[in-house]
Amino acid sequence: MSKGVQAVRGMNDILPEESPVWAQVEATARAVFEEYGYREIRMPIVEKTELFVRSIGEVTDVVEKEMYTFEDRSGDSLTLRPEGTAGCVRAGMSHGLFHNQVQRLWYQGPMFRHERPQKGRYRQFHQMGVEAYGLEGPDIDAEMLLLTARLFKRLGLGHLRLKLNSLGNPEARQAYRKKLVDYFGQYRDRLDEDSLRRLETNPLRILDSKNPDLADIIKQAPSILDHLDEASAAHFDTLKARLDDQGLAYEVDPRLVRGLDYYSRTVFEWTTDRLGAQDAVCSGGRYDFLVSQLGGKHVPAVGWALGMERLIALLSLAEAPPRRDVEPHVYLAMMGEAAEREGWKLAESLRDQVADLRLTAHCGGGSFKSQLKKADRSGAAIALILGESEVGARRIGVKPLRSGEEQFEADWSALPGLLHDRIQHNGE
Ligand code: ATP
Ligand code: MG
Repeated sequence: MSKGVQAVRGMNDILPEESPVWAQVEATARAVFEEYGYREIRMPIVEKTELFVRSIGEVTDVVEKEMYTFEDRSGDSLTLRPEGTAGCVRAGMSHGLFHNQVQRLWYQGPMFRHERPQKGRYRQFHQMGVEAYGLEGPDIDAEMLLLTARLFKRLGLGHLRLKLNSLGNPEARQAYRKKLVDYFGQYRDRLDEDSLRRLETNPLRILDSKNPDLADIIKQAPSILDHLDEASAAHFDTLKARLDDQGLAYEVDPRLVRGLDYYSRTVFEWTTDRLGAQDAVCSGGRYDFLVSQLGGKHVPAVGWALGMERLIALLSLAEAPPRRDVEPHVYLAMMGEAAEREGWKLAESLRDQVADLRLTAHCGGGSFKSQLKKADRSGAAIALILGESEVGARRIGVKPLRSGEEQFEADWSALPGLLHDRIQHNGE
C-alpha cells in the first residue's frame, strides 16, 4: 500500500480480526452500565472550540497542545472532541437534563488528541465513559468504582489497581496551590521547562510530571490531603469507608491530580503494570463546578472514562481474550442454476425462521471443492451443500466442518429445527 493514500499518523483501523474483541468489550460494558441504571447518550464528535477551552482549562496539555482545532466554512472555530465530559455537560444543559433530576449516563466513541503516537497513545483513540449528575454525596462515587470493578472482573481483569485521591473544594485547592508554588519555587534551578511554566500557571500539574529527575522533589512536596476543607475530608472518608465495606481495594495517592482542570474532590485512576509507560486504563473523578462554570446552575457530577485501546491491549495478553462469536454458523454452497435459485430462497427462509442464525451464502459460483475451501476458511461450523440433484427432492447435504462428524443428508423442512438445535448447542 506504499503508493496509495496513507492513514493519518496515530489513527488506526480496527480490522475484522480485532473487532470481535472490541465488540465483546462493548457488549459487556453496555450490560454492566445498564445493570446499574446508566442510560446511553450520543454526542457529536465536533463541538465549538470554546466548550473545551472553558471546561478542560486553558493551561492543560489537552487545550494547549493536543486539540484538533479548525475553522469551518462559516468561520466558526470547531474542535474534534478530545474527551467526552464537556460534550455530555453541554448536551445535558442544552436539553434540560439537569433540572431537578438525577442523570446516570454513559457514552462511547472516538476521541482526538494530537499527541506523540506510541504504544497505548494514539491521535484517534476510543473511550467508554460514565457520568452521574445531580448527586453530591460519596455514595455515587463508590457506586461508580464498584461498577468499574465489576466490569473489569467480568472481562477477566482482576489485577487492575485503583489509586484514589481528593482535591478538595476550590478554596482548599487555591490555598494548597500557594503552598506548592512556595515549595517548588525553592527548586527553580532543578525544574524542567514544562514544570517552570506550570509553576506560574498550574502548579498542581507538576505533581503529574513524568520526568524522573523530578521524582524526588515531587515525593517530598506538601500533600493535598493535609489541606482539604472539612467537608471534602469527610466526603473522602465516607467514600473510603464504603469501599472498605465492599472489600474493594484501593491505594490513596496524594500526588494523583489528573490532567484536566475541572476536577474537584474525588479523583481516581485504575492502572496496570502490564502495559509499560501508558499504565492508566481508566480515570475520572468529581467535577462539581463544571456545569456552573459553563453557565448552568450548581450541578454536582462525577464520572470516568476508560481507554479502549489500552483495555484491549491488556485483554490481548490473555490466553483466551474474550471475543464475540462472529463466524457464520452455516456456509451455503450451491452449484448450478436451479440450485442457486432455490438455494437463495432457502437461505432467506432459514434467516426468517432461525433466530440469531449467521448464514453466509456462497457468491460467485465455482466447483464444490473451491466453495468448501471458502466454507472452511469462513470459520463456519456447518456447510450446507446444494446440487442440482438435491433440488428436486428438496434434500440437502449437511457437512459438519469442525466436529469430525460424517456428512449426512436432510430434508429442507428439517433444517430450521436442526440449525436451531445446533446454535443452542453451541451455548449461544
Ligand atoms: P495519560 O496520563 O495516559 O495521558 P490522561 O490523563 O490524559 O491519560 P484522560 O483524559 O483521563 O487520560 O482519559 C481517560 C483514559 O483515556 C486514560 O486513562 C487512557 O486510558 C485513555 N487515553 C487518554 N489519552 C489517550 C491516547 N492519546 N491514546 C489512547 N488512550 C488514551
Ligand atoms: Mg494525556
